[in-house]
Order: sequence, then structure tokens, then C-alpha cells
Amino acid sequence: MKPSITVSAVSFSLVAAILLQHLSAAEPLTLSNHGQRSTWFGENSEAAFDLYRWLHQHPEVSLYETETAAKLAEQWSAVGLTVTTEVGGTGLVGLLKNGDGPVVMLRTDLDALPVEEATGLDYASKNPGVMHACGHDIHMTTVTTVARYLATHLDQWSGTLMLIGQPAEERGLGAVAMLKDGLLKRFPRPDYGLAVHVDGSVPTGSVVIAGGAVGASADSVDITVKGRGGHGSAPHTTIDPVVQAADLIMSLQTIVSREVKPTNAAVVTVGSIVGGTKHNIISDQCKLQLTVRSHSEEVRQQLIDAICRRAKGIAIAYGAPEPVVIESEGVPALANDEALADRLGSLFRRLLGADHVQAKERSMGFEDFSQFGNAGIPITMFGVGSVSQERLDQYRKQGGIPSLHSATYYPDAEDTLRTAFQMLTAAALDLFENDPLADRANP
Ligand SMILES: [Zn+2]
Ligand SMILES: [Zn+2]
Repeated sequence: MKPSITVSAVSFSLVAAILLQHLSAAEPLTLSNHGQRSTWFGENSEAAFDLYRWLHQHPEVSLYETETAAKLAEQWSAVGLTVTTEVGGTGLVGLLKNGDGPVVMLRTDLDALPVEEATGLDYASKNPGVMHACGHDIHMTTVTTVARYLATHLDQWSGTLMLIGQPAEERGLGAVAMLKDGLLKRFPRPDYGLAVHVDGSVPTGSVVIAGGAVGASADSVDITVKGRGGHGSAPHTTIDPVVQAADLIMSLQTIVSREVKPTNAAVVTVGSIVGGTKHNIISDQCKLQLTVRSHSEEVRQQLIDAICRRAKGIAIAYGAPEPVVIESEGVPALANDEALADRLGSLFRRLLGADHVQAKERSMGFEDFSQFGNAGIPITMFGVGSVSQERLDQYRKQGGIPSLHSATYYPDAEDTLRTAFQMLTAAALDLFENDPLADRANP
């Protein structure tokens, strides 16, 4: 926010004017150009909305984001970025080198969800059963618009802008696929990684940000409980895997309540249990599917170890064969770099006013942007409010706000895009301007 001073006497006005001029001159570029960027966005918003509407109408599910990636490649090339496609599947990388300075990576996800859209928007999805219900269309439009601004204002920054379009976020597969395909070796290694995500319960014009763990690790665990089948009328001749599974499910509930430190967040959910075929047959096995969440590697490992131990322990208690426990490669917790999140939080407060910057609530949801942090890049993801205060109030009266992934969720695109563009551009400029490497390069 710019300082504002009201004075009545002419001489005071003059002093104030000089003072204001001085303050403006002393302000960093990110603040002094805030108004100019607002005007620029107004003049360029039609291109942004055209892209947004096209993306919203053409959603593609995880791992199949081919048209989406092609559209972004075309847009990024037109802006002047050097684009490489098919990085980790449908992923893409866009680079814009502009002299010495840090490499700032802006990440967007590409994928939509298998949801039948029920928003009634005149630009609703044209792909039956698929919808951008998680705002990834907003993210794509935002990074593209930021790139367009930076590419046309090369005098305002120095460094390398790196855009990445990441596939399959919703399945937690895309970030790791891009890393395995040499993202950090084939391209300049980012000094910072930033991402924005829409927030469906925060009003437009506001953002949420916090350092540390803001999203959870997520692992899938498959357990096959083994028994010995037989007739339902003669349980004494069998080892019943269904009863054993029921015992295990109840035992798993006490991992979080009795083993994990109470101040650490954790979730163990048994989402599926399948066993047996008929009323009077005791089956040979019973299958369980679990999702396991935490905010740290330590707790993550503690949960997995406890699940394995309890599964084996209960099998021993029942005299049953050892169960098979398969842990699928999951996603680490999303940990925002503390210093980077602090720096951006104070920048956002100066730009939007403290009332419009809230602490981001920790969530047990996962976001595979965490993989880039896990790979050693200081990262921060912040949330941007996407629903007008009016609409939020209305939803509350009607009984609830549609969550992300809901068939009726939709952002108020214009205001959401404006704030997302303003904050992400300011963040990138701030990181380019305050290059910690600059002094070393130019002593
Ligand atoms: Zn999502
Ligand atoms: Zn998402």
C-alpha cells in the first residue's frame, strides 16, 4: 500500500509532496510499479481471459494433458520463451534468460479432474465428465500472464525466468516424473520455486501464505490379510481373515491417538475393505486400502512402521500367515521454505494491506509441488482467494461453500487472476531484484 498523507496548509502540502516523491523513489521496484502493473493487467486482461476460458472449456485428466500442454507451448513461445515439451510425459519447460541473476521457477499444474461440471457457466467444460474443478486453469493463465509481463518489461529485472507446466498433480505423479526426466540437469537449476493455488474459501483480493509444512505427505498402503478359508458354519476349522481385518482396522485407529506425539498431525484412513464372496463362506484373504498422511518425514516413517508392525502382530495373534503390506511411492509433505515465505508474506502485506494476507492453514491434503522442495529447491506455494465475499456469504447462508474438486466450484476469474498475477509478478521481481548472487558476480 502506498502511503497517503492529507494536509490542509499549502506549505505542508509541498513538504508532503516532496516527502512522497522521495518515498516513491526509495521504494523497491516491486512496490513502485504496482500501480503500473495494475494498469498493464487491465490492458492485457482480455488475452488472459481468452486463455482462461479456453483452458476451462478443454480440461484433460492427469497424464493426458496433451492439448493443454500444446496450448501453453504455443502461448509461451509467442511470449518469447524457449519451450521444451514432453518433459516427464506431457510436462513443459519455458525459459527466458535476461542477463545475470537468479533462476526463478514458476510452476503451474496442467491437469483437470474426472468431474461432471455443474456450474452452469457459459464457458463450462466441453469435455464430458472432465472439469477444471481445482483451479489449475487459473494457475496456467497466471504464470502465462506473468511471463508476458516480464517478457515485455525486461528492464525491470535480471536473471532467468523458468516456467514449468507440470502434469498429473492430482495423482501426485507429475512433479517426480519431471524430476526423473532431468528437470534439474537439462535446464538451469532454480534458485527459487514459486507456485500459486486457488483457495475456494478465501475471498478474492486476499491471499494466504505460511512457512513450514502447509500440506501433508500422502502414501497409499495396500494390506492383504491372509487366513484359511472354509465353511461359515465351522469357523473353528478356519482362520477368518475378515475378523482379523476388523481387528486390524480398530488397532490402526490407535496409531495416531496412542503412538504419534499429540502435537504432530497425522491421519490413517482405511478407505476400502474387500473380503469374501458369500454369506456362508469364510474366505482366504481380505484386502485393505489405506491413505496415510503426515507433516514430516519422521512421522511419515513412524506411521508406516506402525502399520506394518500391527498387521504382522495381529496375524501372529490369530495364528495366520504373514500379511502382505505394499507401500506405494507417495508424496512428501509440502514444506514452504520459512525465509522465502516470510519474505513474500511481508511483500504481500505491503502490496495488499495486512487485512488481505492471512496465515495459510495447514492441511492434510497433498500437493506434489513438495517434490521440488524435496529436491533441494527453496519453494513456496501460496493461496489466492477465488470467490467473491458476496458469493461466500451466500454459500454460508445456504449451508456450505463448495470445496475445490466439487462440480459446482468456480472462481471469480477476473478478480482471482488479477490478484494472482499481481502477487506472483511482484514475488518474482522481488527475487530477481534482491539477487543474493549479484554481489558475488559484481563485487
Ligand atoms: Zn486438486
Ligand atoms: Zn490443485
